[in-house]
Amino acid sequence: MDAEDSTQLVSLYVAQKKIYPRSVQGLFAKWRWGLVILTQIIFYGLPWLEWGQRQAVLFDLGARRFYIFGIVLYPQDFIYLTGLLVISALSLFLFTAVAGRLWCGYACPQTVYTEIFLWFEHKFEGDRSARMRLDAAPFSLKKLWRKGGKHLAWIAFSLWTGFTFVGYFAPIQQLGGDFIAGQVSAWGIFWILFYGFATYGNAGFMREQVCKYMCPYARFQSAMFDKDTLIVTYDEERGEPRGARSKKADLSTLNLGSCVDCSLCVQVCPTGIDIRQGLQYECIGCGACADVCDTVMDKMGYARGLVKYSTQNAMVNKWDGKQTLRRVMRPRVLVYTGILWLIIIAVFASLLMRTPFKVDVVRDRAALARIVQGGKVENVYRLQFMNAAEHALDFKLTAEGINGLQIVTEDTVNVPATEARWVTVRLQMPYDAAASGTHAIHFNIQSVDPQGQEVGHLSEKSMFLVPR
Ligand code: SF4
Ligand code: SF4
Repeated sequence: MDAEDSTQLVSLYVAQKKIYPRSVQGLFAKWRWGLVILTQIIFYGLPWLEWGQRQAVLFDLGARRFYIFGIVLYPQDFIYLTGLLVISALSLFLFTAVAGRLWCGYACPQTVYTEIFLWFEHKFEGDRSARMRLDAAPFSLKKLWRKGGKHLAWIAFSLWTGFTFVGYFAPIQQLGGDFIAGQVSAWGIFWILFYGFATYGNAGFMREQVCKYMCPYARFQSAMFDKDTLIVTYDEERGEPRGARSKKADLSTLNLGSCVDCSLCVQVCPTGIDIRQGLQYECIGCGACADVCDTVMDKMGYARGLVKYSTQNAMVNKWDGKQTLRRVMRPRVLVYTGILWLIIIAVFASLLMRTPFKVDVVRDRAALARIVQGGKVENVYRLQFMNAAEHALDFKLTAEGINGLQIVTEDTVNVPATEARWVTVRLQMPYDAAASGTHAIHFNIQSVDPQGQEVGHLSEKSMFLVPR
């Protein structure tokens, strides 16, 4: 036999096995559905809420305004987005330190939408074994109706999701009217289809593969776990040796642990893993295996908790629930909680205390400085007045920094509610009031509401150039 004959082609590719998660009921399933309902009421309902004459939550990218109930933000308020991102990241660290992938198992959009899509699948095709039989069955009208009906429901739900998503960036009532009249803009249609397609693909087909292969969080989660983190755990000492037995059998006479090897914990797992093999990175901590195992334990008349949320330390030291929870509140968790609250308070306090207007000063680059009638020196500026209040504001302008400096254009500017306005402002000073060169000056701006009450004031720095 020569070398060529002995060469064998070995494929390292393993086709993805389709997972058919079995439906499950129990405490953690209730929590998950509670969060699914809560998050979806917020997501689908929020864009329809009105606040005065406008949509309560609207991110108007065209006008560069972000409306969040009574708050109107401009791109210059980017710092609040940074604050929000820091709060989100710290919350994730905190929840992970306390109970592992709590976010993944209960509130992550991938989990939430997969759960909803599975609900549709269950309604059209039945539970796990019925779905497996349907997939293996040859083509028939019944199969066409079940599969076709499911996909139509998925597509309708995905398009509604895409429509809602776009409704956060364009007034949703108008968008709805345009949709009915067939007058949605090309960009609007693109984003509805794009987001709808992403929902359909991720929740209908990709499912656990997003968690396993695409989500970066799965990769670094283990760095945030320690021996006091609550994770879904199989009590190996109690469960092994596993094996089937009659319900009536006396456990003390059998050389068996509590696990009846029914494999239900594997069948309900949305990522298709076996929790009895220990903590695996694919586990999203959803608790479905704990729920189903508790029902098996109930049927067998054994104590619940063969699969449960527990910590490594609790398992080793055989702590009860109270002892475990006491240890979960460890210094690391308290430090995360403290920092998180500090940042939340700081962001909200600065949001509540901020002046509802902003002014940007830009020097006119075309004419740096010039001598005008009467021998005065003139500099020209462009001022942008941004009104973040829900009513019109008058801005009263003064300038200081050089003797005799005065505004020779309008010194009161009216800006309608939530609008921004650019205004050209000319400053003049007597020729000999300052030496040649640049001089620091300040624009003082006082804002007044329609009732004549001062809303706030601020001072913006700039430069005045005196030519030689
Ligand atoms: S559900 Fe419980 S009893 Fe059944 S195989 Fe899993 S761990 Fe064992
Ligand atoms: S092993 Fe259990 S907790 Fe982990 S993903 Fe599977 S069902 Fe959810």
